Amino acid sequence: MRLILFGPPGVGKGTQAKLLVDKYSLDHISTGEILREAIKQGTDLGLKAKSFMDKGELVPDEVMIGLIREVLKSDRCKSGFILDGFPRTIPQAEELSKLFDDLNIKIDKVLNMEVNEDLIINRLSKRRICGNCNALLNLLTDKIEDNDCPKCLTKDSIYQRDDDKEETIKHRFQVYNQNTSPVKGFYQSKGTLTNVDSMGDVREVFINIVNAIEN
Ligand code: AMP
Repeated sequence: MRLILFGPPGVGKGTQAKLLVDKYSLDHISTGEILREAIKQGTDLGLKAKSFMDKGELVPDEVMIGLIREVLKSDRCKSGFILDGFPRTIPQAEELSKLFDDLNIKIDKVLNMEVNEDLIINRLSKRRICGNCNALLNLLTDKIEDNDCPKCLTKDSIYQRDDDKEETIKHRFQVYNQNTSPVKGFYQSKGTLTNVDSMGDVREVFINIVNAIEN
């Protein structure tokens, strides 16, 4: 199965992708996670991406397209994947289509996670990550004391992404509405876009996604 998970920042793409990976044994390709890892490792890619990411801007298309080309050509995608955070612009969507044609890959579904913007601005500013196990947590729903991770129990490992600060979140929404939202039309015209109500809690949204995949 090959899926693209699409939606505004903070809609819960990463959380849902991890559940889908477990259910369907897919490879999770999160361009955001790849970039954060590159920054941690101090690679060339990380150096190129960091200033854009910290400001809530998109990393330039040519960097992202080169990155996705390498990932999709690797062996890890052979048994199916879920693409999370790519494409985020029309040029990325066009290049991805060409790449899929070259590699003889057919996308099964593009799942568009729909939510109310005000609700997720609040949710996003409360989001936290574990620097050790990459668990996605939220001050609204997870009990976090002294920045210790409740999942892997590592001490003082919980942090807030620079791009989850409130001003940056607002800017990410502007970027989403301007650059990323038009990608929906791209897939709608190809007949692969399925809208998924994503306003509920994690379990409810997961059920909606599974229904959208299996129906
Ligand atoms: P995410 O974890 O998907 O929210 O991505 C975090 C940040 O990484 C984004 O705000 C962008 O700065 C950058 N990023 C991730 N994927 C892309 C992409 N496809 N195109 C441009 N920038 C991206």
